[in-house]
Amino acid sequence: MQFRDLANGFARLEAAGGRLEAVRILTELFARTTPVELERVVYLLQGQLRPVYEGVEFGMAERLLVRALGRAYQSSEESVARQLARRGDLGLVAEALTEAPRRTRLTVGEVYRRLSDVAGAGGAGAVERRIKLLAELLRRCAPIEARYLVRIVQGRLRLGIGDATVIEAAAAGALGDRRHKGLIEKAYNVRSDLGGVVRLAYARGARGLAGITPRVGVPIRPALAQRLPSAQAIVTRLGRVQVEPKYDGFRLQLHRNGARVWAFSRRLENVSEMFPELTAALRRQLRVRTAILEGEAVVHDPATGRFLPFQVTMTRKRKHRVAEVAKRHPLRFFAFDLLYAAGRNYLPRPQAERSRRLAELLRTTPRGALCVTESRTTESGAELQSYFERMIRHGLEGVVAKRPDAPYRAGARGYDWVKLKRSYQSKLRDTVDVVLVGYLAGRGKRAALGVGSFLAAVYDPRRDRFRTVAKIGSGTSEAEWKALRARLDRQAVPSRPRRVDSAIAPDVWVEPKIVVEVLADGITRSPLHTCGRSGAEPGYALRFPRMLDGVRTDKAPEDATTEREVLQMYRMQRRAGASTKAKQRR
Ligand code: ATP
Repeated sequence: MQFRDLANGFARLEAAGGRLEAVRILTELFARTTPVELERVVYLLQGQLRPVYEGVEFGMAERLLVRALGRAYQSSEESVARQLARRGDLGLVAEALTEAPRRTRLTVGEVYRRLSDVAGAGGAGAVERRIKLLAELLRRCAPIEARYLVRIVQGRLRLGIGDATVIEAAAAGALGDRRHKGLIEKAYNVRSDLGGVVRLAYARGARGLAGITPRVGVPIRPALAQRLPSAQAIVTRLGRVQVEPKYDGFRLQLHRNGARVWAFSRRLENVSEMFPELTAALRRQLRVRTAILEGEAVVHDPATGRFLPFQVTMTRKRKHRVAEVAKRHPLRFFAFDLLYAAGRNYLPRPQAERSRRLAELLRTTPRGALCVTESRTTESGAELQSYFERMIRHGLEGVVAKRPDAPYRAGARGYDWVKLKRSYQSKLRDTVDVVLVGYLAGRGKRAALGVGSFLAAVYDPRRDRFRTVAKIGSGTSEAEWKALRARLDRQAVPSRPRRVDSAIAPDVWVEPKIVVEVLADGITRSPLHTCGRSGAEPGYALRFPRMLDGVRTDKAPEDATTEREVLQMYRMQRRAGASTKAKQRR
């Protein structure tokens, strides 16, 4: 395939009116590729060269791209920067600077190889080499090709397409109907390499997809928990449950293949370097040579033995400080699930068997960093409640109740796991993870910091869109507030991103990328927000939302709280309200 054809396809996608049209354009585009090209085109649509977990990055900040453009078009950096300020998008600047029209002969394969060279440049002089390679490639591009080439390197194609849309298009093309998307989704949940899975769908159809099993070194999409309002509601719905403490740490999937070990985050990034003591402990404590296990890494204070909040764990994000932080705040890893071991796929096996096997395979020692999460089974609401209260007294977040006979459903948020946190009883005490889609300079006590409120949205996976649920005008420190604004400015776009569904027009729109956690006093019906809105019915909004510290870098935008969850929380809150009133009347 010619790169020109791909770039034209991207342009059509960018101009597409609705999601169904985008699905159709994508299906047509996929039909014109060879299997190898198909895989690469899917990675490029994801704004990458390889699956996320391989961590291949271009390592070119905007400043360096400006230099590359200057070099390619023999223009000064100042002039490129001026044009950037005017057009708001470096892709458009590159397009305008390219002499048009021009016939080019770049193929997708060649562009992909050159881009891999850019990403692969390392060692001394890497920056200079990246700039040179990219400038050379830009010089060979036609205007429209230059637009997308630059955006690919930026990791933001601005096509308004998420994985869900790619999957739907592949279902239409490879399986004959976009309604078969569930088959691709399921495979993608087990083998989180979208390019590879789409390629397999085209090559081997539904049967090929059904045969996908875990592979060590490739992260599996984590299973997620539902909420229910009380211990009694849990046993009523699930019957006998296996209940475990809910640790508030950093969810990790640990993989081992002989001497090789990996740690993957909740959003499937390779974070092995952040947790050197865990990967080392895995080699020592695991009795089998190949395995995939899951658990929560929690930092504790060796002096008091108490667990520290999630934010402390996250200080390890800064790579150079890992060793120092590891000494001050040692980690414990509480393993709670086994997904694969010694050639056996444990995903379809019942929870009780997975937990039992996990305990057998992990050699626990008093000073070992890895331990198995304690658990017990009960079918009594009162017993579950008292266990829950004991965990709260120990400073934990709550409990997770699990259905002992359920398989591990990768990527699904179902009632096989139900979390019970401090208080779902009255106010909305559970936090909500929202995606920021813009900000308003506006009024409010923080307006002097440049942002009066942040416009926040939740995710609707069915239609692959983000619908607004709150304007957040308080919370976090002033310094964080300002830092967040700077972060958003880097994602600013001139108009509403296609995946965002909003009735409010903020002063600045941003790509839906950044996830933050908010605390609210509840959920109310609101005509201002689009979350849950249908026809003339109003939407739903968070009441008195306050932002908590720190960006949830462990969550991708699609991992944010979903629209459906907000509706469930609203119903839970109404039910709790009704039962409190009934009690008061009694
Ligand atoms: P939250 O913010 O409440 O942790 P979440 O969206 O990150 O929610 P959920 O799937 O809703 O994730 O809740 C389950 C989370 O709880 C898991 O992602 C995991 O990180 C954490 N956790 C802690 N202890 C356990 C446990 N024993 N079993 C399962 N998950 C646990």
